[in-house]
Amino acid sequence: MISYDEEKEEEEKEDEDKERQDDEDDIVEEVNMSFACEDCDYRWEATFESEEEGDEIQYCPMCGTSNTTQI
Ligand SMILES: [Zn+2]
Repeated sequence: MISYDEEKEEEEKEDEDKERQDDEDDIVEEVNMSFACEDCDYRWEATFESEEEGDEIQYCPMCGTSNTTQI
């Protein structure tokens, strides 16, 4: 038979796990990336909140081409 105390302990454990997950979501990890333009050879750095964001196509701030590479 499960006593009241044991049940309560189980609940607390679940709450702890949930809290830990929420903390992970709150961490904003900034990612610095460098890019080079293949067309005008301009180089620049950009900061992203996630690596996925930096993986998206970056447009050259100088000539506007999407022909850029991460360096
Ligand atoms: Zn360019």
